[in-house]
Amino acid sequence: MSDKNTHEKANKNLGTICVQGGWKPKNGEPRVLPIYQSTTFKYDSSEQMANLFDLKETGYFYTRLQNPTNDAVAAKIAALEGGVAAILTSSGQSATFYSIMNICKKGDHVVSSSSIYGGSFNLLAHTLDDMGIDVTFVSPHASEDELEKAFNERTKCVFGETLANPSLDVLDIELFADVAHRHGVPLIVDNTFPTPINCRPIEWGADIVIHSTTKYMDGHATSIGGVVVDSGNFDWDAHKDKFPGLTTPDETYHGTVFTESFGNKAYIFKMTTTLMRDLGSIPSPHNAFLLNLGLETLHLRVPRHCENARKVALFLENHPGVSWVRYPDLEQDENHALAQKYLSHGSSGVLSFGVKGGREKATVFMDSLKVACVVTHVADARTSVLHPASTTHRQMNDTELEAAGVKPDMVRFSVGIEDAEDIIEDLDQALRKTL
Ligand SMILES: *Cc1c(COP(=O)(O)O)cnc(C)c1O
Repeated sequence: MSDKNTHEKANKNLGTICVQGGWKPKNGEPRVLPIYQSTTFKYDSSEQMANLFDLKETGYFYTRLQNPTNDAVAAKIAALEGGVAAILTSSGQSATFYSIMNICKKGDHVVSSSSIYGGSFNLLAHTLDDMGIDVTFVSPHASEDELEKAFNERTKCVFGETLANPSLDVLDIELFADVAHRHGVPLIVDNTFPTPINCRPIEWGADIVIHSTTKYMDGHATSIGGVVVDSGNFDWDAHKDKFPGLTTPDETYHGTVFTESFGNKAYIFKMTTTLMRDLGSIPSPHNAFLLNLGLETLHLRVPRHCENARKVALFLENHPGVSWVRYPDLEQDENHALAQKYLSHGSSGVLSFGVKGGREKATVFMDSLKVACVVTHVADARTSVLHPASTTHRQMNDTELEAAGVKPDMVRFSVGIEDAEDIIEDLDQALRKTL
């Protein structure tokens, strides 16, 4: 199904797409993608406007549905992921929500990896449940048998993260895609941490790819955002009964059938014209412009993040103040085999490790850092660090922490693109204070 060489080949021109994709100026137009900071667009006749509302013609009329700046950036990300269409959303959370709500309704069921971002877990386990959509969680390393057992007749999609935040578990994308397809449903993959520079899930069988663009894509911690990309590969009509929203007439558009009118772009067209219309989680064109500036250097930043993280991981492994290190690129890491298959260029800049002496010493270490900043953020150009036990999970005692899968000594470290020697020197002086 997937050809590893495709990945190698595709990688060759990702840099050009990062720099020039999405915006192709015509003669005399601005070289740089303009910010169309306008809510509305002008037409000469009301008939032209009416045709837009009936989806008979394509064009811009109101920024809640579409905006030229946002669309150019979405097109760039679609090209980077090897998809046919994409839509920007106002956050990664809304991208996750929309990707599922576009094909699920009350009474439907989702199969999800249990190793996912905390916000996504809350959304799936609680908010979707409140809406009548129930979720079965499976290990990202589930066997084919275990996966099969998670499905039922109401299952409409499978969800997982290529490289999970913060556990750094690697999803077996090919296996999850195969089993999903056998049950006639798409695989949705959150590819936030690797970015298309390190992994293109569509090449491994994923049907829909989403991102929190807030992380590496923006890369400078300026703008919250998300994106949903459609591979165009999933045949909705082959499973007509499961996806009536795409394959039967939509009364709010005079009976338009999305798969008939928009072919393999039906999924994104439906999302734009129904979910965006009704829920409205659109980013501002100004934020899309900032995201685009980040994307222009994604292919330079991601390899540097990985190179620095590898150096930091090797340094930490041999430090007397450190009890354990988790980084999929390390040979003895439990995710190493999957990382070699899916993330052969490197995983990401994020790693975690334990400070010897537990919670108390970890706090001493954190307070001694000078280059790395204590923030609730990852995947930034600046090295960021978080000690869950003394911040996000501080109300829990050590027993409760263990149950939540957070070790009291655990530090989440997001390696930036500063000079590796400075990051390592900073780690060293802070760890020495704990000895
Ligand atoms: C941060 C994050 C999200 C949520 O994105 P926001 O932009 O913060 O809404 C979703 N998935 C992953 C993997 C993330 O790291």
